[in-house]
Amino acid sequence: MNSRRNFIVSSISAASLLGLSIKSFAGSDNVSEGDSFAQALGYKSDASKVDRSKYAKYVAGQACVNCSYFQGKSTDTWAPCPMFSGKLVDAKGWCITYLKKT
Ligand code: SF4
Repeated sequence: MNSRRNFIVSSISAASLLGLSIKSFAGSDNVSEGDSFAQALGYKSDASKVDRSKYAKYVAGQACVNCSYFQGKSTDTWAPCPMFSGKLVDAKGWCITYLKKT
């Protein structure tokens, strides 16, 4: 009985650690606004926060999800972008190289 309990406790612990590892890994390839290259391209993870005085090109409604470079589905919240060497950008994001998806 005690070994069964130990097995269950061990399994839950292992599953928790695995979950944390996967979650950490999933976040490691996300583009951060603080990255120097992201700053150079004016990347914002929330397009509504783009500084319009600095980036006059930005038009409300533009976002990574409707950009030609967004390599995900319209339902994806994050997807790779070649401008960032395949790192993941936020579907709600934006950067200066935005190109409307046709
Ligand atoms: S190129 Fe397009 S998909 Fe990539 S970060 Fe800029 S706006 Fe988003």
